[in-house]
Amino acid sequence: MASRYFERLVTQAFRPTHWSRTPSHPVHRLHRSPWQSVRHNSTQHAGSTPHSPKRSFNLISTIVFGVTAGVSYTLLDAAWGTLKTSQNSQNSQIFNSSPGLNNAYGTAEEFKKAITELHDAFPGEDVVSTDPEVLNTHGFSENDYHPGSSHTVVVYPNSTEDVVKIVKISRKYRMPIVPYSGATSLEGQYRAPSIGAICVDMSNMDKILEIHESDSDLVCQPGARWMDINDTLKKKGIPLFFPIDPAPGATIGGMISNGCSGTNAVRYGTAKAEWFLNVTVVLPSGEVVKTRRRSRKSSAGFDTTKLFIGAEGTLGIITEATIRLAPVLPTNVAVVHFPDVRKATEAVVEIMNQGVGIQCVELVDDDFMRSTNKYGMSSRKWPEVDSLFFKFQGPTAASLKETAEVVKRIAKKHGSTGFALAKDDNEAALLWSDRKNALYSGLALVEGSRGWSTDVCVPVSRLPELVYETKKDISNSGLVSTIVGHVGDGNFHALLLFRTDEELAVARELVHRMVERAIALDGTCTGEHGVGIGKREYLYEELGENTVELMKTVKRAIDPLNLFNPGKLYPDAPGTNPHLVASSGTEKENA
Ligand SMILES: Cc1cc2nc3c(=O)[nH]c(=O)nc-3n(C[C@H](O)[C@H](O)[C@H](O)COP(=O)(O)OP(=O)(O)OC[C@H]3O[C@@H](n4cnc5c(N)ncnc54)[C@H](O)[C@@H]3O)c2cc1C
Repeated sequence: MASRYFERLVTQAFRPTHWSRTPSHPVHRLHRSPWQSVRHNSTQHAGSTPHSPKRSFNLISTIVFGVTAGVSYTLLDAAWGTLKTSQNSQNSQIFNSSPGLNNAYGTAEEFKKAITELHDAFPGEDVVSTDPEVLNTHGFSENDYHPGSSHTVVVYPNSTEDVVKIVKISRKYRMPIVPYSGATSLEGQYRAPSIGAICVDMSNMDKILEIHESDSDLVCQPGARWMDINDTLKKKGIPLFFPIDPAPGATIGGMISNGCSGTNAVRYGTAKAEWFLNVTVVLPSGEVVKTRRRSRKSSAGFDTTKLFIGAEGTLGIITEATIRLAPVLPTNVAVVHFPDVRKATEAVVEIMNQGVGIQCVELVDDDFMRSTNKYGMSSRKWPEVDSLFFKFQGPTAASLKETAEVVKRIAKKHGSTGFALAKDDNEAALLWSDRKNALYSGLALVEGSRGWSTDVCVPVSRLPELVYETKKDISNSGLVSTIVGHVGDGNFHALLLFRTDEELAVARELVHRMVERAIALDGTCTGEHGVGIGKREYLYEELGENTVELMKTVKRAIDPLNLFNPGKLYPDAPGTNPHLVASSGTEKENA
């Protein structure tokens, strides 16, 4: 059943697939020398577009029109779409992206003209590439197992103006356009649609433009990596950092677009909190908007910045962002063991309610501890039982000590053993690296395996149930996995190990049942990795039809031609979830 679903996905939406063995970063990247042009106290810079009230008004009026007059707009749009489709049916390409959104695009001939025009627009520069290796690298990923597909052309803009030019060419020839940044997505977010696309690689736009230490904020381009930003601040002796921490290679543009978070979310929240003060965005119309000014807060209308957080490049291309920074505080690390996940989770709930300084709290299972021992990089030999990794945070050594005492006392009350507290920064880094090595240590459990990393999230109190049922399911399936959860947020990841295509199919079905379980527990199909193509099918079930239709109404209002990253995020019609059919059979087999 699983392989039929996979086959259907591939034939309906993508070209024939093969698993990627290519590196996940572009071969053809232009010089990536971050932070060479760090500028202070600058209000204007190459590539930026001044704040434009008129343009902002255009966006707001478009959205208000789209949302409040949704029904009539939908009807108008549907009529327009039908007319356009019938006009183009002789010569346009049809891509089955999502019902209710435009799916007619330019012809292959028009796409060729678009590429010629891109070369003309960026003459004599190493900006436009049709090198097959580059196209391939940008359309596949080693980080996930969704079907891949090459782009038609890759463009490396250097400024907002460059992006505007690319978008205008995409519109003229009705050629899909897919933004691409750190390429660490896990749900196929930047794949090309089967008819091809212009891939816009933001790696040249990776500069920090302004640092405002006294305001605790910073202006940067979207290709800036969060880890490089933090390194730069450290090197400059600025005691601030950006606390959202997904994959090391992730960039600000991709982080905004996937609505990401990470281990620090329990203390600092997610990309959906207030870490992004404003963004400059090139809309599908070619217009440029800046969503807000730099003041820490604003109640001037609704939050248009949020519109682009989690939009996965389907509503616009972000070309600049102002991000908030937090003070760097001393930290320490502790590891403690529990008889089971329920006891560990109950301890976490009580600890979090004390209001002590917890920066991270990570739940790991007995298999994770076993994998860490086997991997052999740890400074310790761990008991192979369910455990918690804590990172404490506080302004003074005394506050860290107090937090450690509170945590130790409450953990003991819930049956913990072996509270290991780092004696200094060096030991803290060693202990934390055991948690950070989760991917590599997990893979060490089964020689020659690859891993599928899942992401679901439930209310914290439901986490033990989710973990218990999932471990039982994994054990019945015959696969091996490790479990890691950002337990303070109820976010849960399993690394499912497989070696063959048959085992991959089993992993795929396990992920499906995990998602169904999480939604049934009032949770979500994705706590932080986003939707892409991998989680689209669950949105109607999770959010309800009206909410999904509202999202599609906004999409139609901003991108009526459905040029921006088609085939991602927005689901097919309700009732077309192939897994609702597939799962019942599989569950019976497992029973
Ligand atoms: C080892 C590993 C660990 C990870 N750990 C975490 C974790 O702890 N927490 C977490 O949340 N995620 C995690 N992830 C997932 C991933 O790091 C995040 O989803 C991250 O936000 C992706 O950023 P990126 O720069 O790689 O974006 P990309 O993968 O390049 O793109 C992401 C999406 O954003 C769009 N996009 C990119 N740039 C722009 C732009 N300028 N304007 C508009 N749209 C744009 C793309 O089209 C795509 O839809 C992990 C991934 C890996 C491989």
